[in-house]
Amino acid sequence: MKFGTKIIHNGHEVEPHTKALGVPICQVSTFQQESVDHFGKYDYARSANPTREALEETIALLENGAHGFAFASGMAAISSVLLLFSPGDHLVVCEDVYGGTFRVITTLFSRLGIEASFVDTTNPDAIRNAIRPNTRGLYLETPSNPLLKITDLAGAAAIARQHGILTMVDNTFMTPYLQRPLELGCDIVLHSGTKFLNGHSDVICGFAVVRDPGLAARIRFIQNSFGAILGPQDSWLVLRGLKTLKVRMEESQRGAGAVADWLCRQERIQEVFYPGLETHPGFHIHHRQASGPGAVLSFTVSTVELTRKLLEELSLAAFAVSLGGVESIISYPAKMSHAAMPHSEREARGITDTLVRLSVGLEDPEDLIADLDRVLNG
Ligand SMILES: *Cc1c(COP(=O)(O)O)cnc(C)c1O
Repeated sequence: MKFGTKIIHNGHEVEPHTKALGVPICQVSTFQQESVDHFGKYDYARSANPTREALEETIALLENGAHGFAFASGMAAISSVLLLFSPGDHLVVCEDVYGGTFRVITTLFSRLGIEASFVDTTNPDAIRNAIRPNTRGLYLETPSNPLLKITDLAGAAAIARQHGILTMVDNTFMTPYLQRPLELGCDIVLHSGTKFLNGHSDVICGFAVVRDPGLAARIRFIQNSFGAILGPQDSWLVLRGLKTLKVRMEESQRGAGAVADWLCRQERIQEVFYPGLETHPGFHIHHRQASGPGAVLSFTVSTVELTRKLLEELSLAAFAVSLGGVESIISYPAKMSHAAMPHSEREARGITDTLVRLSVGLEDPEDLIADLDRVLNG
């Protein structure tokens, strides 16, 4: 079955008892047990809830994994997975990782004795050189946030495997429609489902997906013990949002391509970062491991004044944190997603005060371009 069909026929398209064409919202915390000796499949909804379970099975199916876990946010998914590590363990992390991930690693997990080195994972030697005897995890984002840098997932996972290291990939920007890291040898896929997976800017949620049953059992234990689960209402909303994932990604990606091409021709735009551009240094690697460049791009503007004007005066892109909604969202990494990163670290990573990130929604690209033209060149 191809991806578009799988999204709709995900195993939960008909509810077996009522034949309803949808998953019921099981808004309960507990389940009656029949016998003292044998508890049913469901006992307490932190451990398992049928609505959440339908969503977890769906994300596992789409990522071509075996086990999915839904969490209360992307950060809850990421933090829960990082609880796999112990004091004394070391992580190698891609250097322009999501700001919240940088924050949780450098302020919370560091306190728990888990060390991290942030390296340019687009260079396989940088990964090799950062590995220590106590390295247990390799944490990747590709395309990265916000500079859309490309890491070779199969290559990085092979290096990690040689050293017995787990590879984790935050696949938020691509979604399984465009990129499936488990098929490339990575061990754990992470998501902020808040973005493209739900797609409607109305739920905060996160996912982890794996193939290995032992790893799944450890994550299930953490999910149940730590308890950062997704509730049934939100699980249902994400199941609904997911049904249109393919058409939303296709259409947003088409718009992003048109906007990126236009931006490249503008005098007041300095650099455009988008893996759909042949000039992007990661173009070939990206197109080997993903089926499209996605709908997020970033660019630098000639002056800080014009950057601010663009952020505040566009009428068709909301100036907001987040991405992956049906509406275009323009954001300012320096003060938003990467505000948690010290200024010097940020500048060193190229996240400057004239860098803008644009997540292209479902508006007609011609209208978006006219809006950008009005503010940039007006
Ligand atoms: C938004 C985001 C996160 C965090 O997810 P939340 O749902 O906001 O907790 C993690 N990684 C990436 C790439 C993101 O864009």
